Amino acid sequence: MANLTIDAVKAMTFDAIVIGSGISGGWAAKELCQKGLKTLVLERGRDVKHGTDYPTANLNPWDFPHRGQLPLDIRAEYGKSRSFMREETLQWAIKEGEQPYVEEKPFTWTRGYHVGGKSLLWARQTQRWSDFDFEGPARDGFAVDWPIRYTDIAPWYSYVEKFAGISGNKDGLPQLPDGEFLPPIQLNCVETHLKEVLAKNYQDRHVVQGRCAHLTKPQPIHYQQGRAQCMHRTLCVRGCPLGGYFSSNASTLPWAENTGNMTLRPHSVVHSIIYDEKRPGRASGVRVVDGHTKQMMEFYAKIIFVNSSALSSNLILLNSISSRFPNGLGNDSGLLGKYIAWHNYRGRVSAQVEGFLDKTTDGKNPSNGYMPRFRNLHKQETDFLRGYAAGVGGGRGSIQNRDGLGADLKASLLTPQPGPWNVSSWMMGETVPIEKNHVRLDTLQKDPYGIPLLVTSADWTENDDKMVNDYMEQLTEMFTLAGFKNIKAADSHSAPGSDIHEMGGVRMGRDPKTSLLNKWNQLHHCKNVFVTDGACMTSTATQNPSLTYMALTARAANFAVNELKKKNL
Ligand SMILES: Cc1cc2nc3c(=O)[nH]c(=O)nc-3n(C[C@H](O)[C@H](O)[C@H](O)COP(=O)(O)OP(=O)(O)OC[C@H]3O[C@@H](n4cnc5c(N)ncnc54)[C@H](O)[C@@H]3O)c2cc1C
Ligand code: SF4
Repeated sequence: MANLTIDAVKAMTFDAIVIGSGISGGWAAKELCQKGLKTLVLERGRDVKHGTDYPTANLNPWDFPHRGQLPLDIRAEYGKSRSFMREETLQWAIKEGEQPYVEEKPFTWTRGYHVGGKSLLWARQTQRWSDFDFEGPARDGFAVDWPIRYTDIAPWYSYVEKFAGISGNKDGLPQLPDGEFLPPIQLNCVETHLKEVLAKNYQDRHVVQGRCAHLTKPQPIHYQQGRAQCMHRTLCVRGCPLGGYFSSNASTLPWAENTGNMTLRPHSVVHSIIYDEKRPGRASGVRVVDGHTKQMMEFYAKIIFVNSSALSSNLILLNSISSRFPNGLGNDSGLLGKYIAWHNYRGRVSAQVEGFLDKTTDGKNPSNGYMPRFRNLHKQETDFLRGYAAGVGGGRGSIQNRDGLGADLKASLLTPQPGPWNVSSWMMGETVPIEKNHVRLDTLQKDPYGIPLLVTSADWTENDDKMVNDYMEQLTEMFTLAGFKNIKAADSHSAPGSDIHEMGGVRMGRDPKTSLLNKWNQLHHCKNVFVTDGACMTSTATQNPSLTYMALTARAANFAVNELKKKNL
């Protein structure tokens, strides 16, 4: 502890510290504050207030100086923020030089460095895991067995779904457990057609309404958060002033703030966690670099939740060095940073659709259709492990007649006609975590805050390549059966991480020799530190991951507070 007066230490001391204010950090903040803990939320980026800090939310296309596109010089400044390369979303992008990392092998690391994190950027798809996923590593002999099963997390899925507001249909599929749903957003005619074709031709393949975090029919709990019904504006990426979709900014953070127990500190870059040499097996607080002054300071608490997103959480733990843990906090096993995995989004199949010309796409769908995993579910049936889900979306473009001149041309441009229907599908494959795929600290280079740069060293395996080929073959077969024309299948060969679902490095497990966290997301060797973001994931499944982070976080927070009450922490 630095040389401070008792009053100064008191001012820096809280019951709990949460690192990061994104999807998982927002949940940690809500749960801990609601249970009465004075909680400090440390966020490296700027503040973003719900509603008032969404500068492009209500702009019209002609309000943007470049009609949405960005000039090349601006694009160059934000090189790595590829997903946010439009005028409407530039406020979420980060400048290349300010937040560097080292790609030993190409790796796309998309970050949202502001209050709310990537909860303002996500596509809001939210599916539960099933036991086909939790039992996967044990059944197929990879990574390490999960210390939990579906029954452990099911009540927590229900808990977070009711608060966040998840729309969906109860489909009764064992690989995609049903949840606490608001009414689903309907599939359009092409997606429904594909659903019917699959039902006729296969027993195990389904298209269901995407389950997504949109308020299709808000409940009292959502109005209490100040949120309103989704109006299908499909401008979600700009931030939704209505709170029509779930974000930390619209939901968990204001809830935490209303308890009077939260102190949110933006511009606070967490450097490391302080190990308490006087109380073995405990951390005493965190070291923070102030984003403006670059001064190092310390904050103290009884429990610490690490929620800075998967790879940042690895970085913080690797950088938390003490005489007890010279290789990173809790890292007796030497596995910290290893078994990084992600989702395989390389495959895409698209086609043209004949007919349905009496139907339009008015009343846009901010979600899409979803095909749950069907490969290798009940038994191993291919020459690759695990499987893939797929997003499915049908749409209809518009055709502008550009013939003619003057008033005729203007009139044709102002009355575009609906074009033919098209359909596309994108792959969401499970990657199998392997030890070689890892992150570590660069031994020489540091970022502007004096923190070692993260080195990403991860690559595809033969299993991933085979899975992409199978996806392209199977989707082509299904599209052919549906009568779609001009089917095109492609492997983008994109870099790992492009899916923005990076996971692992601080995995859960039963045995401290082969895992970092126990079944409560608690570091085996440092009991008051909990890691509940993607870093904790033992394997990746095929579902979008954030709903599982939310449920694990709420579950761990409940456990932590109970342990605190029992004076076990
Ligand atoms: C375009 C896009 C689409 C997506 N679609 C989906 C989807 O449909 N479904 C789904 O489940 N997921 C989706 N995701 C992924 C989803 O956004 C993430 O899984 C989720 O946000 C992770 O939550 P988190 O709390 O771990 O991290 P984040 O939400 O990223 O929050 C981490 C926070 O920690 C802060 N932080 C980082 N380092 C530090 C530090 N050293 N000190 C202090 N603060 C720090 C960051 O600034 C950030 O605010 C999508 C992501 C993107 C970008
Ligand atoms: S589609 Fe719904 S959630 Fe998205 S911006 Fe529109 S109203 Fe908000």
